[in-house]
Amino acid sequence: MATTDRHARLALLTGPSGVGKGTLVTRLLARHPQLWLSVSATTRAPREGEQDGIHYFFHSRDSFEALVRAGGLLEWAEFAGNCYGTPRQPVMQRLQSGTSVLLEIELEGARQVRQSFPEALQIFLAPPSVEELEHRIRGRGTESEVSIQKRLERARTELAAQGEFDAVVVNDDLETALSELERLMRLTNA
Ligand code: ADP
Ligand code: 5GP
Repeated sequence: MATTDRHARLALLTGPSGVGKGTLVTRLLARHPQLWLSVSATTRAPREGEQDGIHYFFHSRDSFEALVRAGGLLEWAEFAGNCYGTPRQPVMQRLQSGTSVLLEIELEGARQVRQSFPEALQIFLAPPSVEELEHRIRGRGTESEVSIQKRLERARTELAAQGEFDAVVVNDDLETALSELERLMRLTNA
């Protein structure tokens, strides 16, 4: 099925850990292969099945800090004890060549992008309830109890900031949330 992306632009998706960002982004990319997802740098250890350069660029603290010092990141933040950042050059290259770019990043990074790219579309993905969020993080089975607690604590701050975003999409029914993202990002099936 051919797809048409009418606007080459920068879009950003933020939301608490476990809300379903990764799940929705995977679906979105499968349906709109012309959309490019930025691959972030992180100091977090790879989860089972995660590959360097595909899911993340995995770094030591030292090499991440060197990247920051060299100005290689468009934004970066600390989240649940690890550093995460968006490599600058690949994003700028895509935008300059007219490709639509999607960033899947946390709140502090979204705030930095709001300063540097005020024209970017900022979408917040919210869970139907905090109980369901916890259920999803636990159900994913990737985090230690310590990491789950850090992520749930951080979720409160993130949920309180949803009013800063251009749009809020509730990920209750997956297909409904996907359609809503497509509408907001003006992604249409031809
Ligand atoms: P995030 O990337 O935001 O941390 P994930 O995409 O890893 O979240 O999703 C967390 C868990 O929730 C996964 O197990 C996923 O299958 C599940 N999930 C995602 N969206 C939904 C949904 N709409 N309804 C029920 N479960 C969902
Ligand atoms: P996870 O460890 O679950 O893969 O990601 C934890 C959090 O880091 C998520 O909220 C995710 O959106 C965020 N994140 C991933 N990449 C980046 C990035 O490049 N920059 C920022 N600021 N956050 C990121």
